[in-house]
Amino acid sequence: MYRDGARKSIWQEEIKRFSSKAGLHQMFDAAIVGGGITGISTALQLQQSGKKCILLEAANIGFGTTGGTTAHLNDFFDTTFTEAINDFGKDNAQLLAEVGQEAIGIIETNIKNYNIDCNFERKKAYLFALDEKQEKQLEDIVDGASKVGHEMMYVDEIPFPIPFKKAVSIPDQAQFHPVKYIKALCEAFINTGGIILEDCLAEKHDEQDDVIILKTSKGEIKAQHLIYATHILPGLSILHTTNAPYRSYAMAFSLKDENYPKDLGYDLIDPYHYYRVQEINGETLLIAGGEDHKTGHEEDTGKCFSRLENYVRKYFDVETAYYSWSSQYYEPTDGFPYIGKLPDSKGKVYTATGFRGNGMIFGTISSRIISDLIINENSKYENIFNPSQIKPIAGFTSFVEENAVVAFDFIKDKLFKEKITSLHEINEGEAKVVKYEGDSYALYKEATGKVHLVKSTCPHAKCEVRWNSAELSWDCPCHGSRFNINGKILTGPSVMALQRVDPEDS
Ligand SMILES: Cc1cc2nc3c(=O)[nH]c(=O)nc-3n(C[C@H](O)[C@H](O)[C@H](O)COP(=O)(O)OP(=O)(O)OC[C@H]3O[C@@H](n4cnc5c(N)ncnc54)[C@H](O)[C@@H]3O)c2cc1C
Repeated sequence: MYRDGARKSIWQEEIKRFSSKAGLHQMFDAAIVGGGITGISTALQLQQSGKKCILLEAANIGFGTTGGTTAHLNDFFDTTFTEAINDFGKDNAQLLAEVGQEAIGIIETNIKNYNIDCNFERKKAYLFALDEKQEKQLEDIVDGASKVGHEMMYVDEIPFPIPFKKAVSIPDQAQFHPVKYIKALCEAFINTGGIILEDCLAEKHDEQDDVIILKTSKGEIKAQHLIYATHILPGLSILHTTNAPYRSYAMAFSLKDENYPKDLGYDLIDPYHYYRVQEINGETLLIAGGEDHKTGHEEDTGKCFSRLENYVRKYFDVETAYYSWSSQYYEPTDGFPYIGKLPDSKGKVYTATGFRGNGMIFGTISSRIISDLIINENSKYENIFNPSQIKPIAGFTSFVEENAVVAFDFIKDKLFKEKITSLHEINEGEAKVVKYEGDSYALYKEATGKVHLVKSTCPHAKCEVRWNSAELSWDCPCHGSRFNINGKILTGPSVMALQRVDPEDS
């Protein structure tokens, strides 16, 4: 398995193993944790700037959301410019408007410098409203965009066979193959002297005055700077109350009529559907995504795929669904990502999180922000994305809502546990959290009858995990840690596995 789920994503065949042979017993200028687009882009940027870097990954390069993304490259975001103006002021919204093209520019420069074949293409994007409510929303989006000088043009036609009320086209967007891209960045990183260590879990760090000691599953590493590019910070932190984990679903279809839309598309339903096309192994496929929900909050995750497929079939002449996969992203409570110095750090530990559905862009810009902070001790984005600042007003409503949901989970989990009283209630192919002799277990019975039993309490903050039938994983509804059927960590923030139990002993 090369991803943090049981399903294969469209990008996955390109995932390759990396390992550099080098001793850990040296002082590094920077240790970067996380082998997704954020970690790899940052590691390469720092290595190129003359820093001696080591990149650690708990599983393999591309294991996290970068291997399960859809890789649209947009310079407009899930947080609209109108929201940014209202909540953070026009100057900050204007700065946000610079991020997209700057990040796409970094990607283009890397592609050129390292001669990367990753199917990068400039595209137009279309945002379209399907009803009157969405029409107003679209007008609001366009109004905010125009205030920060971002071009969106009303159009009468869209290249998608979906009836719409109003639409805009947005020039100069892009798409690429994310795994081909990060694979080439890894090769460039190693060629310039960087070290990659896979299957290496970062467990905790000790930030001393002159050195950071990082404890990992492969031993201690000493570095001057530490960057957590783990999508969500491992362990317990204030950032777990300001970021909520969400799942999103993607599928790739062939179309009978070959009428593949050549551009990027987004409706304004909540949660929205997104579309693009990708050629894989000589076959053109339409990638559609949507059906997002808070992690651990959908009883039957398999149904998210049926809903997405039915929706797509309503409008497109679908022949075959070749791929279906889901992945995780993080909603920041105030709409802006958190990129920069870690709250509570003495100043040498950095993080990058809260990217919503725009992490190709925010992960890439993180490489510039963090390397600027390390090398020049400043970045033009350091204030707007400062992880120590919970920004005013904007965050308040959703902050309260997200935390109310977490509190509700604690209570609901207790009731859920009491309801199921016996291991014998489980049929083949089913999974449940069961109560047995006063303890609570997460149980999965394979079709063959083989039982996988683990303690159901997430080691991170002691919430009870829930079954994700789409990816055969146990997902924590509180902070998004995920585990496989044997309790192994798939997704942080937990750095400990679920405790495995031999069914014969229980
Ligand atoms: C379905 C879906 C579609 C999306 N589509 C788009 C899109 O079209 N455009 C866009 O811009 N964004 C999109 N996003 C968001 C984007 O994909 C992510 O924000 C981005 O991939 C995050 O990259 P990352 O490198 O920060 O994290 P990841 O890719 O998740 O990488 C983090 C890595 O850290 C490792 N790790 C974690 N903890 C530890 C530890 N303790 N020790 C060692 N390693 C550790 C993990 O194994 C993982 O490999 C989408 C998200 C989803 C879910």
